[in-house]
Amino acid sequence: MQYVSTRGSAPRLGFEDVTLAGLASDGGLYVPDQWPSFTTAEIAAMRGLSYVDTAVAVMRPFVAGALDDQELKALCEAAYGRFAHAAVVPLKQLDHRQWLLELFHGPTLAFKDVALQLLGLLFERFLAKRDTHLTVIGATSGDTGSAAIDALAGRAKVDIFMLHPKGRVSEVQRRQMTTVLAPNVHNIAIEGSFDDAQALVKAMFADAGFANRFNLSAVNSINWARLMAQVVYYFYAGVQLGAPDRPVAFSVPTGNFGDVFAGYVAARMGLPVAKLVVATNVNDILHRALSTGDYSVGTVTPTSAPSMDIQVSSNFERLLFDLHGRDGAALNATMNGFESSRRLDIPAAMRSEAAGLFSSARIDADRMQMAMRWAHDRAGETIDPHSAIGLAAAQDAELDASIPVVTLATAHPAKFGDAVERATGVRPTLPARIGELFERQERYVVLPAEIGAIEQFVADQSVTAA
Ligand SMILES: *Cc1c(COP(=O)(O)O)cnc(C)c1O
Repeated sequence: MQYVSTRGSAPRLGFEDVTLAGLASDGGLYVPDQWPSFTTAEIAAMRGLSYVDTAVAVMRPFVAGALDDQELKALCEAAYGRFAHAAVVPLKQLDHRQWLLELFHGPTLAFKDVALQLLGLLFERFLAKRDTHLTVIGATSGDTGSAAIDALAGRAKVDIFMLHPKGRVSEVQRRQMTTVLAPNVHNIAIEGSFDDAQALVKAMFADAGFANRFNLSAVNSINWARLMAQVVYYFYAGVQLGAPDRPVAFSVPTGNFGDVFAGYVAARMGLPVAKLVVATNVNDILHRALSTGDYSVGTVTPTSAPSMDIQVSSNFERLLFDLHGRDGAALNATMNGFESSRRLDIPAAMRSEAAGLFSSARIDADRMQMAMRWAHDRAGETIDPHSAIGLAAAQDAELDASIPVVTLATAHPAKFGDAVERATGVRPTLPARIGELFERQERYVVLPAEIGAIEQFVADQSVTAA
Protein backbone atom coordinates (compact mmCIF):
# COMPACT_ATOMS: atom_id res chain seq x y z
CA MET A 1 0.00 0.00 0.00
CA GLN A 2 1.26 3.45 -0.93
CA TYR A 3 0.29 6.68 0.81
CA VAL A 4 -0.13 10.19 -0.61
CA SER A 5 -0.27 13.59 1.06
CA THR A 6 -3.53 15.57 1.16
CA ARG A 7 -1.55 18.58 -0.14
CA GLY A 8 -0.24 16.77 -3.16
CA SER A 9 3.49 17.49 -3.16
CA ALA A 10 5.16 15.33 -0.47
CA PRO A 11 6.68 12.05 -1.70
CA ARG A 12 4.52 8.92 -1.83
CA LEU A 13 5.55 6.60 0.99
CA GLY A 14 4.95 3.03 2.10
CA PHE A 15 3.36 2.12 5.44
CA GLU A 16 6.61 1.95 7.38
CA ASP A 17 7.76 5.45 6.41
CA VAL A 18 4.29 6.92 6.89
CA THR A 19 4.16 5.52 10.42
CA LEU A 20 7.53 6.98 11.40
CA ALA A 21 6.97 10.35 9.68
CA GLY A 22 3.61 11.38 11.13
CA LEU A 23 3.10 14.66 9.25
CA ALA A 24 3.86 14.94 5.51
CA SER A 25 6.71 17.27 4.47
CA ASP A 26 4.32 19.57 2.52
CA GLY A 27 2.28 20.20 5.69
CA GLY A 28 -0.42 17.72 4.64
CA LEU A 29 -1.61 14.44 6.11
CA TYR A 30 -0.97 11.02 4.64
CA VAL A 31 -3.87 8.90 3.33
CA PRO A 32 -3.87 5.64 1.35
CA ASP A 33 -3.60 6.29 -2.40
CA GLN A 34 -6.90 4.43 -2.75
CA TRP A 35 -9.38 3.02 -0.28
CA PRO A 36 -9.25 -0.76 -0.07
CA SER A 37 -12.66 -2.45 0.05
CA PHE A 38 -14.09 -5.73 1.23
CA THR A 39 -16.80 -7.82 -0.44
CA THR A 40 -19.90 -8.67 1.60
CA ALA A 41 -18.57 -12.25 1.84
CA GLU A 42 -15.31 -10.98 3.34
CA ILE A 43 -17.21 -8.92 5.91
CA ALA A 44 -19.54 -11.83 6.72
CA ALA A 45 -16.44 -13.95 7.34
CA MET A 46 -15.51 -11.61 10.24
CA ARG A 47 -18.43 -12.97 12.28
CA GLY A 48 -17.25 -14.67 15.43
CA LEU A 49 -13.65 -13.52 15.08
CA SER A 50 -11.74 -12.34 18.15
CA TYR A 51 -10.74 -8.69 18.31
CA VAL A 52 -7.17 -9.58 17.32
CA ASP A 53 -8.28 -11.63 14.31
CA THR A 54 -10.68 -8.86 13.26
CA ALA A 55 -7.78 -6.41 13.55
CA VAL A 56 -5.61 -8.54 11.26
CA ALA A 57 -8.40 -8.86 8.67
CA VAL A 58 -9.17 -5.12 8.67
CA MET A 59 -5.60 -3.76 8.77
CA ARG A 60 -4.06 -6.30 6.35
CA PRO A 61 -4.52 -4.13 3.21
CA PHE A 62 -3.03 -1.03 4.89
CA VAL A 63 0.18 -2.71 6.06
CA ALA A 64 0.72 -4.71 2.87
CA GLY A 65 4.39 -4.61 1.90
CA ALA A 66 5.52 -3.82 5.46
CA LEU A 67 4.12 -6.63 7.64
CA ASP A 68 2.78 -10.09 6.86
CA ASP A 69 -0.23 -11.63 8.64
CA GLN A 70 1.82 -13.41 11.27
CA GLU A 71 3.83 -10.31 12.15
CA LEU A 72 0.69 -8.17 12.31
CA LYS A 73 -1.06 -10.72 14.48
CA ALA A 74 1.84 -10.91 16.93
CA LEU A 75 1.82 -7.11 17.31
CA CYS A 76 -1.96 -7.05 17.84
CA GLU A 77 -1.76 -9.81 20.44
CA ALA A 78 0.87 -7.82 22.35
CA ALA A 79 -1.07 -4.54 22.08
CA TYR A 80 -4.54 -5.85 22.92
CA GLY A 81 -3.33 -8.40 25.46
CA ARG A 82 -2.83 -5.42 27.77
CA PHE A 83 -6.56 -4.59 27.78
CA ALA A 84 -8.45 -5.50 30.94
CA HIS A 85 -11.56 -6.93 29.22
CA ALA A 86 -11.63 -10.29 27.42
CA ALA A 87 -13.62 -8.71 24.54
CA VAL A 88 -11.01 -5.88 24.33
CA VAL A 89 -13.80 -3.42 23.37
CA PRO A 90 -17.10 -4.85 24.76
CA LEU A 91 -20.42 -3.84 23.19
CA LYS A 92 -23.17 -3.18 25.75
CA GLN A 93 -26.90 -2.87 25.17
CA LEU A 94 -28.64 0.24 26.55
CA ASP A 95 -32.15 -0.17 25.15
CA HIS A 96 -33.83 -1.82 22.15
CA ARG A 97 -31.66 0.12 19.68
CA GLN A 98 -29.01 2.06 21.58
CA TRP A 99 -25.65 0.38 22.19
CA LEU A 100 -22.41 1.42 23.84
CA LEU A 101 -18.99 0.34 22.57
CA GLU A 102 -16.57 0.56 25.51
CA LEU A 103 -13.18 1.58 24.17
CA PHE A 104 -11.62 2.45 27.54
CA HIS A 105 -10.35 -0.86 28.93
CA GLY A 106 -6.73 -0.17 27.98
CA PRO A 107 -3.91 0.77 30.37
CA THR A 108 -4.74 4.51 30.63
CA LEU A 109 -8.54 4.27 30.52
CA ALA A 110 -9.27 6.22 27.32
CA PHE A 111 -9.86 5.07 23.74
CA LYS A 112 -6.50 6.46 22.65
CA ASP A 113 -4.90 3.29 24.03
CA VAL A 114 -6.48 1.27 21.20
CA ALA A 115 -4.33 3.02 18.63
CA LEU A 116 -1.29 4.04 20.68
CA GLN A 117 -0.57 0.61 22.14
CA LEU A 118 -0.19 -0.65 18.58
CA LEU A 119 1.72 2.44 17.41
CA GLY A 120 4.32 2.00 20.17
CA LEU A 121 5.01 -1.54 18.95
CA LEU A 122 5.12 -0.46 15.30
CA PHE A 123 7.70 2.23 16.14
CA GLU A 124 9.90 -0.26 17.96
CA ARG A 125 9.66 -2.81 15.17
CA PHE A 126 10.38 -0.39 12.33
CA LEU A 127 13.23 1.33 14.21
CA ALA A 128 14.90 -1.99 15.02
CA LYS A 129 15.85 -2.40 11.35
CA ARG A 130 17.25 1.12 10.99
CA ASP A 131 20.16 3.04 12.33
CA THR A 132 17.82 5.71 13.69
CA HIS A 133 16.79 7.07 17.05
CA LEU A 134 13.39 8.78 17.19
CA THR A 135 12.45 11.69 19.45
CA VAL A 136 8.70 11.86 19.95
CA ILE A 137 7.48 15.27 21.05
CA GLY A 138 3.90 16.05 21.97
CA ALA A 139 1.63 18.40 23.88
CA THR A 140 -1.31 17.08 25.83
CA SER A 141 -4.35 18.34 27.66
CA GLY A 142 -4.62 14.93 29.32
CA ASP A 143 -5.52 11.69 27.55
CA THR A 144 -3.08 11.59 24.64
CA GLY A 145 -0.05 12.15 26.86
CA SER A 146 -0.68 9.27 29.22
CA ALA A 147 -1.62 6.88 26.41
CA ALA A 148 1.49 7.77 24.38
CA ILE A 149 3.78 7.51 27.41
CA ASP A 150 2.39 4.12 28.38
CA ALA A 151 2.82 2.90 24.82
CA LEU A 152 6.45 4.08 24.45
CA ALA A 153 7.90 3.64 27.95
CA GLY A 154 11.01 1.48 27.91
CA ARG A 155 10.96 0.94 24.12
CA ALA A 156 14.32 0.88 22.36
CA LYS A 157 15.57 3.71 20.11
CA VAL A 158 12.84 6.16 21.05
CA ASP A 159 12.57 8.96 23.61
CA ILE A 160 9.31 10.73 24.40
CA PHE A 161 9.02 14.32 25.62
CA MET A 162 5.49 15.25 26.68
CA LEU A 163 4.49 18.83 27.48
CA HIS A 164 1.47 19.50 29.67
CA PRO A 165 0.17 22.82 31.01
CA LYS A 166 1.24 23.01 34.67
CA GLY A 167 -1.69 22.73 37.05
CA ARG A 168 -4.24 22.44 34.24
CA VAL A 169 -4.58 18.69 33.89
CA SER A 170 -6.39 16.62 36.51
CA GLU A 171 -4.31 14.91 39.21
CA VAL A 172 -5.18 11.48 37.80
CA GLN A 173 -4.11 12.58 34.34
CA ARG A 174 -0.84 14.10 35.62
CA ARG A 175 0.03 11.06 37.71
CA GLN A 176 -0.70 8.72 34.82
CA MET A 177 2.12 10.50 32.99
CA THR A 178 4.57 11.47 35.71
CA THR A 179 4.67 8.17 37.61
CA VAL A 180 6.10 6.41 34.56
CA LEU A 181 9.77 6.40 35.51
CA ALA A 182 11.29 4.68 32.44
CA PRO A 183 14.46 6.56 31.44
CA ASN A 184 13.16 7.33 27.91
CA VAL A 185 10.09 9.18 29.27
CA HIS A 186 10.45 12.93 29.91
CA ASN A 187 7.52 14.90 31.32
CA ILE A 188 7.61 18.69 31.11
CA ALA A 189 5.13 20.88 32.94
CA ILE A 190 4.94 24.16 31.03
CA GLU A 191 4.27 27.42 32.82
CA GLY A 192 1.44 28.30 30.45
CA SER A 193 -1.71 26.98 28.80
CA PHE A 194 -2.31 23.96 26.56
CA ASP A 195 -2.22 26.30 23.55
CA ASP A 196 1.23 27.50 24.68
CA ALA A 197 2.40 23.89 24.94
CA GLN A 198 1.05 23.09 21.49
CA ALA A 199 2.65 26.22 20.00
CA LEU A 200 6.02 25.18 21.47
CA VAL A 201 5.74 21.74 19.88
CA LYS A 202 4.89 23.29 16.52
CA ALA A 203 7.85 25.66 16.84
CA MET A 204 10.23 22.76 17.50
CA PHE A 205 8.98 20.94 14.38
CA ALA A 206 9.34 24.16 12.38
CA ASP A 207 12.96 24.58 13.58
CA ALA A 208 14.38 22.40 10.77
CA GLY A 209 17.89 22.19 12.22
CA PHE A 210 16.55 20.99 15.55
CA ALA A 211 13.91 18.71 14.04
CA ASN A 212 16.46 16.94 11.84
CA ARG A 213 19.17 16.69 14.47
CA PHE A 214 16.85 14.91 16.91
CA ASN A 215 14.69 13.14 14.30
CA LEU A 216 11.42 14.46 15.69
CA SER A 217 8.24 12.48 15.27
CA ALA A 218 4.61 12.94 16.27
CA VAL A 219 2.10 10.62 17.86
CA ASN A 220 -0.99 12.80 17.71
CA SER A 221 -3.89 11.69 15.55
CA ILE A 222 -2.36 13.09 12.38
CA ASN A 223 -0.38 9.82 12.37
CA TRP A 224 -2.09 7.52 9.86
CA ALA A 225 -1.35 4.32 11.81
CA ARG A 226 -3.51 5.59 14.68
CA LEU A 227 -6.55 6.05 12.47
CA MET A 228 -5.97 2.67 10.86
CA ALA A 229 -6.10 0.94 14.24
CA GLN A 230 -9.41 2.66 15.00
CA VAL A 231 -11.12 1.40 11.84
CA VAL A 232 -11.06 -2.08 13.39
CA TYR A 233 -13.65 -1.50 16.10
CA TYR A 234 -16.24 -0.18 13.67
CA PHE A 235 -16.09 -3.54 11.88
CA TYR A 236 -15.99 -5.49 15.15
CA ALA A 237 -19.16 -3.80 16.48
CA GLY A 238 -20.91 -3.62 13.10
CA VAL A 239 -20.53 -7.32 12.41
CA GLN A 240 -21.88 -8.19 15.87
CA LEU A 241 -25.02 -6.17 15.14
CA GLY A 242 -25.68 -7.82 11.78
CA ALA A 243 -23.38 -6.28 9.17
CA PRO A 244 -23.00 -6.81 6.26
CA ASP A 245 -26.73 -7.72 6.05
CA ARG A 246 -27.93 -4.93 8.32
CA PRO A 247 -26.77 -1.31 8.36
CA VAL A 248 -25.52 0.18 11.62
CA ALA A 249 -25.14 3.83 12.73
CA PHE A 250 -22.40 5.20 15.00
CA SER A 251 -22.37 8.27 17.24
CA VAL A 252 -18.87 9.57 17.91
CA PRO A 253 -17.83 12.16 20.52
CA THR A 254 -15.51 14.26 18.40
CA GLY A 255 -12.58 16.64 18.86
CA ASN A 256 -9.86 16.30 16.24
CA PHE A 257 -12.11 14.32 13.85
CA GLY A 258 -9.77 11.32 14.12
CA ASP A 259 -12.09 8.74 15.62
CA VAL A 260 -15.03 9.61 13.39
CA PHE A 261 -12.77 9.69 10.32
CA ALA A 262 -11.90 6.06 11.10
CA GLY A 263 -15.65 5.36 10.82
CA TYR A 264 -15.66 7.04 7.43
CA VAL A 265 -12.81 4.76 6.35
CA ALA A 266 -14.81 1.73 7.52
CA ALA A 267 -17.72 2.89 5.36
CA ARG A 268 -15.42 3.38 2.36
CA MET A 269 -14.16 -0.16 2.90
CA GLY A 270 -17.67 -1.58 2.56
CA LEU A 271 -19.10 -1.67 6.09
CA PRO A 272 -22.80 -0.71 5.75
CA VAL A 273 -22.76 2.46 7.88
CA ALA A 274 -26.20 4.12 7.86
CA LYS A 275 -24.96 7.29 9.54
CA LEU A 276 -21.98 8.73 11.39
CA VAL A 277 -23.20 11.19 13.98
CA VAL A 278 -20.52 13.79 14.74
CA ALA A 279 -21.20 14.74 18.36
CA THR A 280 -19.58 17.95 19.62
CA ASN A 281 -19.88 19.92 22.85
CA VAL A 282 -20.31 23.72 22.76
CA ASN A 283 -16.98 23.92 20.91
CA ASP A 284 -18.98 23.19 17.79
CA ILE A 285 -16.83 24.04 14.76
CA LEU A 286 -17.51 20.62 13.22
CA HIS A 287 -21.25 20.85 13.81
CA ARG A 288 -21.29 24.29 12.17
CA ALA A 289 -19.16 23.05 9.28
CA LEU A 290 -21.33 20.03 8.52
CA SER A 291 -24.71 21.70 9.09
CA THR A 292 -24.13 25.15 7.58
CA GLY A 293 -20.73 25.05 5.84
CA ASP A 294 -19.18 27.49 8.34
CA TYR A 295 -15.75 26.12 9.32
CA SER A 296 -14.43 29.17 11.16
CA VAL A 297 -12.23 29.22 14.23
CA GLY A 298 -13.62 30.73 17.43
CA THR A 299 -12.25 30.63 20.97
CA VAL A 300 -12.21 27.49 23.08
CA THR A 301 -14.71 27.24 25.92
CA PRO A 302 -13.52 24.86 28.68
CA THR A 303 -16.08 22.11 29.40
CA SER A 304 -16.29 18.93 31.46
CA ALA A 305 -15.42 17.00 28.28
CA PRO A 306 -11.94 18.57 27.85
CA SER A 307 -10.72 16.18 25.15
CA MET A 308 -13.32 17.70 22.83
CA ASP A 309 -12.45 21.32 23.66
CA ILE A 310 -10.90 21.93 20.28
CA GLN A 311 -11.27 24.63 17.65
CA VAL A 312 -9.28 23.32 14.71
CA SER A 313 -9.89 19.64 13.92
CA SER A 314 -6.73 18.54 12.14
CA ASN A 315 -8.14 15.34 10.64
CA PHE A 316 -11.02 17.18 8.96
CA GLU A 317 -8.46 17.85 6.22
CA ARG A 318 -8.54 14.15 5.34
CA LEU A 319 -12.29 14.33 4.62
CA LEU A 320 -11.84 17.59 2.71
CA PHE A 321 -9.27 15.80 0.52
CA ASP A 322 -11.89 13.28 -0.64
CA LEU A 323 -14.50 16.05 -0.99
CA HIS A 324 -12.02 17.88 -3.28
CA GLY A 325 -11.95 14.79 -5.52
CA ARG A 326 -8.51 13.86 -4.03
CA ASP A 327 -6.96 16.85 -5.82
CA GLY A 328 -4.02 17.75 -3.56
CA ALA A 329 -3.22 21.02 -5.36
CA ALA A 330 -6.82 22.21 -4.97
CA LEU A 331 -6.91 21.29 -1.29
CA ASN A 332 -3.53 22.95 -0.76
CA ALA A 333 -5.02 26.21 -2.01
CA THR A 334 -8.07 25.77 0.23
CA MET A 335 -5.92 25.07 3.30
CA ASN A 336 -3.58 28.00 2.63
CA GLY A 337 -6.66 30.22 2.54
CA PHE A 338 -7.91 28.72 5.79
CA GLU A 339 -4.57 29.12 7.55
CA SER A 340 -4.44 32.82 6.75
CA SER A 341 -8.10 33.78 7.31
CA ARG A 342 -8.99 31.13 9.98
CA ARG A 343 -12.21 30.41 8.10
CA LEU A 344 -13.36 28.19 5.32
CA ASP A 345 -16.75 28.07 3.64
CA ILE A 346 -17.63 24.57 2.57
CA PRO A 347 -19.47 24.74 -0.77
CA ALA A 348 -23.04 23.38 -0.81
CA ALA A 349 -22.13 20.54 -3.21
CA MET A 350 -19.43 19.24 -0.87
CA ARG A 351 -21.69 19.67 2.13
CA SER A 352 -24.47 17.64 0.57
CA GLU A 353 -22.02 14.93 -0.43
CA ALA A 354 -20.85 14.72 3.19
CA ALA A 355 -24.45 14.73 4.43
CA GLY A 356 -25.01 11.36 2.76
CA LEU A 357 -22.96 9.78 5.53
CA PHE A 358 -22.49 12.38 8.29
CA SER A 359 -24.93 14.18 10.54
CA SER A 360 -23.94 16.30 13.51
CA ALA A 361 -25.13 17.63 16.84
CA ARG A 362 -24.04 20.22 19.39
CA ILE A 363 -24.67 18.97 22.91
CA ASP A 364 -24.63 21.47 25.80
CA ALA A 365 -23.86 20.72 29.46
CA ASP A 366 -27.52 20.16 30.48
CA ARG A 367 -28.23 17.69 27.68
CA MET A 368 -24.94 15.91 28.44
CA GLN A 369 -25.88 15.51 32.11
CA MET A 370 -29.33 14.26 31.16
CA ALA A 371 -27.78 11.53 29.01
CA MET A 372 -25.41 10.56 31.84
CA ARG A 373 -28.37 10.26 34.24
CA TRP A 374 -30.44 8.30 31.70
CA ALA A 375 -27.64 5.76 31.20
CA HIS A 376 -27.17 5.43 34.94
CA ASP A 377 -30.86 5.24 35.95
CA ARG A 378 -32.34 3.41 32.97
CA ALA A 379 -29.57 1.18 31.66
CA GLY A 380 -27.32 0.59 34.66
CA GLU A 381 -24.28 2.07 32.94
CA THR A 382 -22.07 4.82 34.32
CA ILE A 383 -20.63 6.85 31.47
CA ASP A 384 -18.15 9.73 31.29
CA PRO A 385 -18.96 13.23 29.91
CA HIS A 386 -17.44 12.54 26.45
CA SER A 387 -19.43 9.34 26.01
CA ALA A 388 -22.56 11.11 27.31
CA ILE A 389 -22.25 13.70 24.55
CA GLY A 390 -22.14 10.85 22.06
CA LEU A 391 -25.15 9.17 23.62
CA ALA A 392 -27.21 12.38 23.68
CA ALA A 393 -26.48 12.91 19.99
CA ALA A 394 -27.38 9.27 19.26
CA GLN A 395 -30.73 9.62 21.06
CA ASP A 396 -31.51 12.89 19.27
CA ALA A 397 -30.52 11.66 15.79
CA GLU A 398 -33.30 11.15 13.27
CA LEU A 399 -32.64 7.64 12.08
CA ASP A 400 -34.79 4.83 10.78
CA ALA A 401 -36.10 2.91 13.82
CA SER A 402 -34.76 -0.39 12.50
CA ILE A 403 -31.15 0.80 12.62
CA PRO A 404 -29.08 0.07 15.74
CA VAL A 405 -26.98 3.00 16.95
CA VAL A 406 -23.60 2.44 18.57
CA THR A 407 -22.20 5.22 20.75
CA LEU A 408 -18.44 5.09 21.15
CA ALA A 409 -17.60 5.30 24.88
CA THR A 410 -14.23 7.02 24.78
CA ALA A 411 -13.17 7.34 28.43
CA HIS A 412 -13.64 5.41 31.67
CA PRO A 413 -16.06 7.29 33.96
CA ALA A 414 -13.53 7.32 36.83
CA LYS A 415 -11.22 9.51 34.74
CA PHE A 416 -13.83 12.26 35.10
CA GLY A 417 -15.18 11.33 38.53
CA ASP A 418 -16.27 14.83 39.61
CA ALA A 419 -18.47 15.43 36.56
CA VAL A 420 -19.99 11.95 36.83
CA GLU A 421 -20.75 12.44 40.50
CA ARG A 422 -22.38 15.82 39.83
CA ALA A 423 -24.74 14.27 37.26
CA THR A 424 -25.54 10.92 38.86
CA GLY A 425 -24.80 11.34 42.56
CA VAL A 426 -22.46 8.36 42.41
CA ARG A 427 -18.67 8.56 42.35
CA PRO A 428 -17.12 5.96 40.03
CA THR A 429 -14.10 4.12 41.41
CA LEU A 430 -10.79 3.81 39.60
CA PRO A 431 -10.09 0.22 38.53
CA ALA A 432 -7.80 -1.56 40.98
CA ARG A 433 -5.02 -1.87 38.38
CA ILE A 434 -4.40 1.89 38.50
CA GLY A 435 -5.73 2.52 42.00
CA GLU A 436 -2.30 2.84 43.60
CA LEU A 437 -1.47 5.76 41.31
CA PHE A 438 -1.60 8.10 44.29
CA GLU A 439 1.16 6.28 46.15
CA ARG A 440 3.67 6.18 43.29
CA GLN A 441 6.66 8.46 42.92
CA GLU A 442 6.40 11.22 40.28
CA ARG A 443 9.13 12.63 38.05
CA TYR A 444 8.79 15.77 35.91
CA VAL A 445 10.45 19.11 35.31
CA VAL A 446 8.82 22.53 35.28
CA LEU A 447 9.97 24.82 32.48
CA PRO A 448 8.97 28.26 31.25
CA ALA A 449 6.99 28.40 27.99
CA GLU A 450 10.10 29.35 25.99
CA ILE A 451 11.37 27.44 23.01
CA GLY A 452 15.04 27.88 24.01
CA ALA A 453 14.52 26.30 27.43
CA ILE A 454 12.61 23.34 26.01
CA GLU A 455 15.08 22.67 23.19
CA GLN A 456 17.99 22.83 25.67
CA PHE A 457 16.24 20.28 27.90
CA VAL A 458 15.58 17.95 24.96
CA ALA A 459 19.23 18.23 23.88
CA ASP A 460 20.59 17.54 27.40
CA GLN A 461 18.36 14.54 27.97
CA SER A 462 19.06 13.11 24.53
CA VAL A 463 22.82 13.18 25.19
CA THR A 464 22.21 11.26 28.39
CA ALA A 465 19.99 8.81 26.56
CA ALA A 466 22.44 8.15 23.71
C1 LIG B 1 -9.33 12.32 22.21
C2 LIG B 1 -10.69 12.10 22.80
C3 LIG B 1 -11.87 12.36 22.07
C4 LIG B 1 -11.87 12.98 20.68
O1 LIG B 1 -11.35 12.11 19.72
P1 LIG B 1 -10.89 12.68 18.31
O2 LIG B 1 -10.27 11.52 17.60
O3 LIG B 1 -9.89 13.76 18.61
O4 LIG B 1 -12.09 13.22 17.62
C5 LIG B 1 -13.09 12.05 22.67
N1 LIG B 1 -13.15 11.55 23.92
C6 LIG B 1 -12.04 11.28 24.64
C7 LIG B 1 -12.18 10.74 26.02
C8 LIG B 1 -10.77 11.55 24.11
O5 LIG B 1 -9.67 11.28 24.85
